[in-house]
Amino acid sequence: MTDTDTPSAWDRVSIHGGHSGQFCLHAKDSLEAVVQAYIAQGFSWVGITEHLPPPSDRFRYEDEISAGLSAAFLQDRFSRYIEEARRLQETCRGQIRIYVGMETEAYTGAIPFCRELIREHRPDYIVGSVHHVDDVNFDFSAEHYQAAVSAAGGLDNLYLRYFDQQYDMIRSLSPAVVGHFDLVRIHDPDYRKRMEAAPVKERIRRNLELIRERNLILDCNARAFVKGAAEPYPTETILRQALELNIAVVPGDDSHGIDSVGLHVDRVCRWLTDLGFDTAWKLPTS
Ligand SMILES: [Zn+2]
Ligand SMILES: [Zn+2]
Repeated sequence: MTDTDTPSAWDRVSIHGGHSGQFCLHAKDSLEAVVQAYIAQGFSWVGITEHLPPPSDRFRYEDEISAGLSAAFLQDRFSRYIEEARRLQETCRGQIRIYVGMETEAYTGAIPFCRELIREHRPDYIVGSVHHVDDVNFDFSAEHYQAAVSAAGGLDNLYLRYFDQQYDMIRSLSPAVVGHFDLVRIHDPDYRKRMEAAPVKERIRRNLELIRERNLILDCNARAFVKGAAEPYPTETILRQALELNIAVVPGDDSHGIDSVGLHVDRVCRWLTDLGFDTAWKLPTS
């Protein structure tokens, strides 16, 4: 370890995360406590990007269905989220810079609904994410992943459809940040091999070129480490292409409560510096 490897060698930031138990059923703690944790860890700035609520009951997550939460309730809770995040942005000014965002979905109807919410709430930016392939969620659990693989007709097809839907989402929304670019690998131990297949490789390249063209940021997502992966999202071969294309890459902890605030962010920063990335992190609003 050299001097430049100390955490002070980079600004601690997170461009994606800050989910809280107050506004998300699969997260923990109040949003204020989450923001206080970022302040305590000396973060320069943080993007708070709560999930898009479902446009209708159909796309509620399984835990929301079990808890009997309606889409109407979740939409109302999202409005309260924006209000609370704006309040904290104001009251914590001077201690930390907060960007108020939201994380999208790409299932049927999500994109027009997202546009509506942008008009209504004017978030500072959005993180464009894909958690469903052809309307089947694949990241909630290993069982969900298996169901999505079956619905897609195999793993290779799941990857192809994922990257196609990501492309459409980026084209439609131009999100300032593209979230966990290769999340589709989440429960696939052979993902490196899968991404070597020519049709998958071509799609990855196409999506990266679109990101470059629109000057968007790639989230380098530390939650992969939390879930036991050996590297963040996206994988090293994709990060190397991003570097070559001069795409800005910024750490995101994808925190879902105090205990994941800042978790593995320094590891991601070290990862990025080792690959040759600049740590003058691009802001989501620049
Ligand atoms: Zn979440
Ligand atoms: Zn996500």
